[in-house]
Amino acid sequence: MAGKALINIDYTYDFVADDGALTCGEPGQKIENKIVERTEAFIRNGDIVVFAIDLHDQDDSYHPETQLFPPHNIRGTKGRELFGELKNVYEKNKELENVIYMDKTRYSAFAGTDLELKLRERRITEVHLVGVCTDICVLHTAVDAYNRGFKIVVYKDAVASFNQMGHEWALGHFEQAMGIIVK
Ligand code: ZN
Repeated sequence: MAGKALINIDYTYDFVADDGALTCGEPGQKIENKIVERTEAFIRNGDIVVFAIDLHDQDDSYHPETQLFPPHNIRGTKGRELFGELKNVYEKNKELENVIYMDKTRYSAFAGTDLELKLRERRITEVHLVGVCTDICVLHTAVDAYNRGFKIVVYKDAVASFNQMGHEWALGHFEQAMGIIVK
């Protein structure tokens, strides 16, 4: 059984498209090919690919992000669909046993999801991260993976943010404070 998983974080219309609600814009669009390439390689190899995708409800007054960001990734909207070619890759492969899709409602893919159970069942010890935003959802997912003892790899050409300084800070933090392999 495979020992590694690719965690695909939040590469959706709202986070990437020019008119997305909380878009990374060009830096987000530029990583499309690399995300697609890596996702296809993991699938082909029989490794696990998890799509962990932000989900919000309209006017959720209890959710902490409501105070912080414009509404985004709202249930049932186009904004929540995977962006570009990644959507096709997912649609083509979603029936495969090694492709898993899960909703998440917080930054970290581990928060309130069964991600850890899914990984442990499959004897996964190593998680590879791609997606957006480097300094928010990728960062929080990395911290949770770190605290759970997973080995972590982040692909710097397959993560992006709407905050370039935050993006660079997070990449440095991954390497220097978390021992993450950034490549
Ligand atoms: Zn969100």
